[in-house]
Amino acid sequence: MQMMIADQFTESISGERTRIINPADGKPAGEVPKGGKEDVDRAVMAAGDAFRRWSVLPTSRRGMIFWQSAALIRREADRLALILTTEQGKPLREAKDEVLGAAAVFEYYAGSASLVSAGYTDRLPRYGYGIIQRRPLGVCGAIIPWNMPVLIAAWKIGAALITGNTLVLKPSINAPMAVLAVGEVMIRSGLPPGVLNIITGNGRDAGDPLIAHPDVRKISFTGGIETGEHVARVTARTIKRLTLELGGNDPMIICSDMDPAMMADAALRLRLYNAGQICTSPKRIIVEEGIYDTFTTHLERLLRDVTVGDGTDPGSMMGPLNNAEVRRSVEDAVQTLRDEGATIIRGGKNEEFPKNGFFYNPVLCTGVPEDSRIHAEEIFGPVLPIIRADDLDDAIGIANDTQYGLGASIWTRDISAAERASEALEAGIIWVNQHMKLPPEVPFGGIKKSGFGRENGLAFIDAYTEEKTILINR
Ligand code: NAD
Repeated sequence: MQMMIADQFTESISGERTRIINPADGKPAGEVPKGGKEDVDRAVMAAGDAFRRWSVLPTSRRGMIFWQSAALIRREADRLALILTTEQGKPLREAKDEVLGAAAVFEYYAGSASLVSAGYTDRLPRYGYGIIQRRPLGVCGAIIPWNMPVLIAAWKIGAALITGNTLVLKPSINAPMAVLAVGEVMIRSGLPPGVLNIITGNGRDAGDPLIAHPDVRKISFTGGIETGEHVARVTARTIKRLTLELGGNDPMIICSDMDPAMMADAALRLRLYNAGQICTSPKRIIVEEGIYDTFTTHLERLLRDVTVGDGTDPGSMMGPLNNAEVRRSVEDAVQTLRDEGATIIRGGKNEEFPKNGFFYNPVLCTGVPEDSRIHAEEIFGPVLPIIRADDLDDAIGIANDTQYGLGASIWTRDISAAERASEALEAGIIWVNQHMKLPPEVPFGGIKKSGFGRENGLAFIDAYTEEKTILINR
C-alpha cells in the first residue's frame, strides 16, 4: 500500500517501508511507506493548495462526494473489512460493522452539509450592520489510534472536509491499510486532489512534524493520555486549535432490579467486542450487592464458551489483541489485580493459539477491592473486573473515582435511579440500558483526563469553523 498525497498514491521521500503485521499469526499483512517530516511538509503544501478551491465549493457539492463515498464503502464493505481484520485482528463481522459505521458517518456529514455555511447578519443602528460568516479553518491535521481506525478516521474526515477544510491524516502504524483503502474509495468518488492526504508512519517521525507544523490550524487527536499531553504541549507553541479524545475507564453500573443472566450476557458481549480494545468499552463493571453473586456465576459460565481465534474464522467470537505491547500491558494489569487479592478466572475455549499471534483469553476478576488500581488506569483488553457496590450511591462514588470521564452506563428499570445516576456520573456521554453506542448524530468526547472538544453531533461546526465579522457603516 502507498501513502496518499494529493490524488497521487506515492512512496515516501526516503523510499523506506514499514511492514504491517497480522496479529493473528505474526506474518506480514502488507507494507506501507515510512513517512517522515518531508512527506508531512509535502502533504501540508498539497492540502494548502487544495484548500483554495475546496473551501469555496458549495457545501452541497462536498456533500455529494460523501454520499458517493458512502455508497461505494457499502458496496465494497467485505473487501475493506478483510483488510481491517488482517491488520487489526478483530473478527470479520466486527470489521464489517465498523466499515458500515464509517459509511453511516459519511452519510451523516453529507446530510448535514446545508447546516455548515449558515452565518447571520445583524442590524446595528449605531454602527450600520454586521455580517457574521462561518469560515473553515484551513489545513487541519488528524492523528488516530489502531483500535477502530476506519470509524475514527471517518469522524475526522467527515467533520473536517464537509466544513471546507482540507486534511492531513496520520493513522497508527499498527493499522494504516484500511484507512488508506477508504481514502482510495473517496478519490474514486470524486474527491479532488490534495483535499485528503494520508501519511503512514510512526508517532515520532510522522506525527511530531504534523502537530508542530506552523501551517496546520487544528489537530484532532485520538489516542492515549500520555501522547495527548505531548500533543497539547507541542500544539500550544503554534497556537493551534486542539481536540483531544483520550482514553476511557467507563463504568457500567448494574442495579439489582435487572435480570442477572441477561446482564451477564450484555456485559460479556460489550466487553469482548474488539477484544476490549475500545475507549468506551465497559472497563469497570459495578454490580449492586443484591445480584452480584448470581451475575458473576452466570458470567463465569458464559465466559467458558467464548471462542478466541483468527478474525477471519467465522467461529471466532473474539480475535487476537492488536500487538505485543497491548498484550503485555493487559497481562501486567491482571497481575496487579491478582496481587491486590482479586480472584482471577480465565475463560475461553481455545488454549492452542498460533505461536506468533497476539492472542489472549478473556479474564473475569471477582472480589476486586474498591481501591484497586483499575480505577486509576484503563485496561485496554478483554478483562472483566466486577466490583461490588452496596447501593446506587456507592456505585456512583466508585464510578466517579477515576481520572477518566469518557462514557458511563446505568442499567435499571427504575427511571428515578436512571435519572439520578445520569446527573451524578462524570462523563461526556451517559447511556441508560445500553453502552458504547455512538451514532454520529450525537456529540462524542470526554471530560476530566479523557480530553476536551467534541466530535460528531452539531459540535463539528464549531470545532471546524470560525466566525468572521464584517461590520459595515452605511
Ligand atoms: P497512542 O497514544 O500510542 O497513539 C495514538 C496515535 O498517536 C498514533 O497514530 C501514534 O502514531 C500517534 N503518536 C504517537 N506518538 C506521537 C507523537 N510524539 N506525536 C504525534 N503523534 C504521535 O494510542 P494507541 O496505542 O494507538 O491507542 C490506544 C489508546 O487510544 C488508548 O488509551 C485508548 O483509550 C485511546 N483511544 C481513545 C479514543 C477516544 O475516542 N477517546 C478512541 C480510541 C482509542
